[in-house]
Amino acid sequence: MKKFVNNMLVAAMIATGIAWGGVVSAQTDLDAIMMNKNQFCQGITYDYSSWDHYWEGTFKRDNANLGTVSTQALMYMPNYGITNNLNVMASVPYVWTKATQGTLHGVNGLQDFSVFVKWRPLVFSSGKNKFSLFAIGGFSMVLWGIALKTVIGWHFTWLVNSATHLWGSRRFDTRDDSRNNGLIAAVTFGEGWHNNHHAHPRSARHGLAWYEFDINWIQIRLLEKVGLVSNVYAYSEKAERAELTPIQEAA
Ligand SMILES: [Zn+2]
Repeated sequence: MKKFVNNMLVAAMIATGIAWGGVVSAQTDLDAIMMNKNQFCQGITYDYSSWDHYWEGTFKRDNANLGTVSTQALMYMPNYGITNNLNVMASVPYVWTKATQGTLHGVNGLQDFSVFVKWRPLVFSSGKNKFSLFAIGGFSMVLWGIALKTVIGWHFTWLVNSATHLWGSRRFDTRDDSRNNGLIAAVTFGEGWHNNHHAHPRSARHGLAWYEFDINWIQIRLLEKVGLVSNVYAYSEKAERAELTPIQEAA
């Protein structure tokens, strides 16, 4: 039933597609239909499904603890032909879920904003036969914009405390095994100058030499310039030497 409803809705979406330029035509992210250049098409789909039993092997069980679980989705999908062979489309679904019994409670909201690109790289025909090749790809914001982005962010952060204690060079003879690693610094905006950080943990500046690029330090300097942060301490070898000299002389 759900499949049938879905198919009907896709058909309804295609039927309601409105194209500029006098031609009525439509497409989805999964088919091989192309919009012509500068044609725009939009559609709305509505999807409803519910279930109150499930199969456990050959046993048909009732959802005693969930009741009837239902999902509704209303989706807006605009498509645009950048060229005759390159289309871009997006989909924004709003989803409601509900369970009639038990402790599961429904949620609703915008889900999985997606962008798709469809490209037709190859068409040739011989006689009645026509051959065309399509490439269809896309990404959803929930995966690429939230989940994957967060995981990559975590791993880059953790690299600072793992990899920079294994590989790299040591400017300061600290009591730990911290190291300066340019590769890690490049993906962590300067945090990879970790031996400098361990030697001078209070310093907001990690990159000390001109070649130790430290974007975080540049940002902190900018914030200081516009007055959003103050009393920033930054270690400087020159200043430190100047400070130490009189003491050494006295000693
Ligand atoms: Zn460390």
